Amino acid sequence: MPRPIRALVKPSAIDYNLQRIRAINPAWHCMPVVKAHAYGHGLERLLSGLQSADSLAILEIEGAAALRKLGWSKPIVLLEGCFDSADVEQAVALGLDWVVHDHAHLQAVVDLADRWLDTQHAPRIFLKLNTGMNRLGFTVDTAPAVIEQLDALARQMEWPVPVLMTHFANADAQQLVNARPSAQAQFEALMALKPAHWFSSLANSAGVLNCPEWAGDIVRPGIAIYGATPGPKTALEYGLKPAMSLRSQVIAIQTVAVGERVGYGSRWQATRSSRIGVVACGYADGYPRHAPDGTPVVAAGQRVPLAGRVSMDMLTIDITDAPQVQLGSDVELWGEALSIDEVAEHAGTIGYELMCALAPRVPVTVVEG
Ligand SMILES: *Cc1c(COP(=O)(O)O)cnc(C)c1O
Repeated sequence: MPRPIRALVKPSAIDYNLQRIRAINPAWHCMPVVKAHAYGHGLERLLSGLQSADSLAILEIEGAAALRKLGWSKPIVLLEGCFDSADVEQAVALGLDWVVHDHAHLQAVVDLADRWLDTQHAPRIFLKLNTGMNRLGFTVDTAPAVIEQLDALARQMEWPVPVLMTHFANADAQQLVNARPSAQAQFEALMALKPAHWFSSLANSAGVLNCPEWAGDIVRPGIAIYGATPGPKTALEYGLKPAMSLRSQVIAIQTVAVGERVGYGSRWQATRSSRIGVVACGYADGYPRHAPDGTPVVAAGQRVPLAGRVSMDMLTIDITDAPQVQLGSDVELWGEALSIDEVAEHAGTIGYELMCALAPRVPVTVVEG
């Protein structure tokens, strides 16, 4: 028998979450983000749930090539742009669109236009503005000249109308009263520069869910389509369904007396006679090693606390108050009974990091319907 750990992924949850997002504003062009192997889920496994998307956004050009191989014919946008001229060649060959966020990358587009063949796929350029995130993009001061240059080029080449894009720095603030003024200011900075006929794109999941009026034309939800939350509300409150669950089983049970300790570093100590369940899941599967005692785990349908340090291949749970838990009982580490966000919060991280870190050794089953 294989080790009992497995991850289940559900394309239908992706489709459901996309519909939820569309319902917020049916006029949006919906461009889900599928970078990092669809946030750890595996792009090819989820593609059937992405069919209603208008386009897809990704960073890795190999992932874009894989999408084309799998038959995805709608637009694909490279969110960090083309890294060198070889990428530009490949992007054109694959029929991709891409982000331009600095002068060198703009020059690569100008060079491309110089050797343009009419038979090639005409790219839609997403020009990225830095409106306060200070990560990627042209500053508001340098933008007007760049916008003018790109607009003239796109008209002359008869390429698709460009998109002016930016990224919200704070739309996920823990208090929406703090998030919204910052998002509004970034929106206003972008709209002041955008030529009337260009499209706009501002919102990630936090923007879509918390500041939809400043999202622009093309939305870029990532975490929300996988059914986790950017904050501050829970995924359930936003009406999202988790697309991944991580499951395993109890493979051993120990009875420990008062004062005995469990696991590496003897971190957890029994204050009563206790039953300890040993679960086949450790940090080499993607479960966070820094999860503290008390992090919830669902065993045989009941929430029980983590007890002791997570090791490479196993973790231990206190099942003293869950007598129905037996050898072979099913365990959910995160999923439908226990949100990934809640586990992440206990471990001092975010759901994004946990789903992206699902280890390659965990077998994944696609659950249809
Ligand atoms: C990753 C990414 C997104 C999606 O962000 P979420 O918080 O997961 O919704 C959107 N836009 C850009 C540019 C990104 O890199």
